[in-house]
Amino acid sequence: MYTDRDIAALARLIDKARRAVVFTGAGISTESGIPDFRSPGGIWTQMAPIYFDEFLASETARRETWRRRFAMEDKFGGAEPNRGHRAVDALVRRGKVGAVITQNIDGLHQASGIPPEKIIELHGNTTYATCLDCGERYEIADLRTAFERDGDVPPCDKCLGHIKTATVSFGQAMPVLAMHRAEQETLAADLCIVLGSSLVVYPAAGFPEIAKRNGAALAIVNREPTGLDRIADLVIHEGIGDTLGAAVGVN
Ligand code: NAD
Ligand code: ZN
Repeated sequence: MYTDRDIAALARLIDKARRAVVFTGAGISTESGIPDFRSPGGIWTQMAPIYFDEFLASETARRETWRRRFAMEDKFGGAEPNRGHRAVDALVRRGKVGAVITQNIDGLHQASGIPPEKIIELHGNTTYATCLDCGERYEIADLRTAFERDGDVPPCDKCLGHIKTATVSFGQAMPVLAMHRAEQETLAADLCIVLGSSLVVYPAAGFPEIAKRNGAALAIVNREPTGLDRIADLVIHEGIGDTLGAAVGVN
C-alpha cells in the first residue's frame, strides 16, 4: 500500500524540479490492458523472442513474427492511454517534463496527446512498419490484408527490402539518434521519474542511473523492486495511475 506521505513526497520532488525527464517501461501500459514482460504470468514470457538475424535469414521466422504481430493486434489494438499516461501528458504540458524516454512500443504516450518530438522511443514503435532497406513506411492494417490473402507480407514496393514493424528487435542495433537524445535529456534533467520498468533491459535502463550520477533526484514508481531502488530518493511499490495521478492531480 502507498500512503499519503508517498504521494506528498512525489508531488514535492516534482514541484522542486526545474526540468524533469520521465522514463517509462511496459508497466505504465498494463493499466491499459497490455501485459508487461516480467510481471508474474505475463503472457509474453511464454514466447521465445525472434532475434533480428533470424528475421533477416528466414522466411519462416518473418512469417511467424507477422503472425504474432497480427494476433497482438486483436488483443491489444484497441488499448487506450490510462491515468498514468494522462498524468505524464499533464506534466509535459505544464512544462515540467522536457522529454519522455520510453521503452514501450505501443504508441500510447502519443495517443495521450504528448507531442511526438517530446517522446524518445528507445525500442521503436509497433503501430506501423517500415522497409528495413529504404525506410518506406507501411500501415499494419494494409499489411494484414496482404498477409491474410497471400499468407505472407510482401516485400517493399520501392526496393524489395524486408518490411518489419518499426520496433527494435533483440539483436538489432539501438537507434543512434534516440539514444543520443535520451542522453542529452537525461543530463539536462534535475529529476528522473521512472514509471513501470524493471530496469533490467540495458542499455535503456542505464539512463535513470546516469541521471542520478549526474546529480538529479530519482523517483521510481514500480510494483516490484528494481535494481536502482537502493540509490533512489523515493521508491513507491504501487500502481502508477493512482499514485502519479494523485501526485499530479490528474484523473
Ligand atoms: P518489464 O516487463 O521488464 O517490467 C515492467 C515492470 O513494471 C515490472 O517490474 C512490474 O512490476 C511493473 N509494473 C507492471 N504494471 C505496473 C503498474 N500498473 N504500476 C506500476 N508498476 C507496474 O518492462 P520493461 O522494463 O519495459 O522491459 C520490457 C521490454 O519489453 C521493454 O524493452 C519494452 O520494449 C518491451 N515491452 C513493451 C510493451 C509495451 O510497449 N506496452 C509491453 C511489454 C514489453
Ligand atoms: Zn524499401
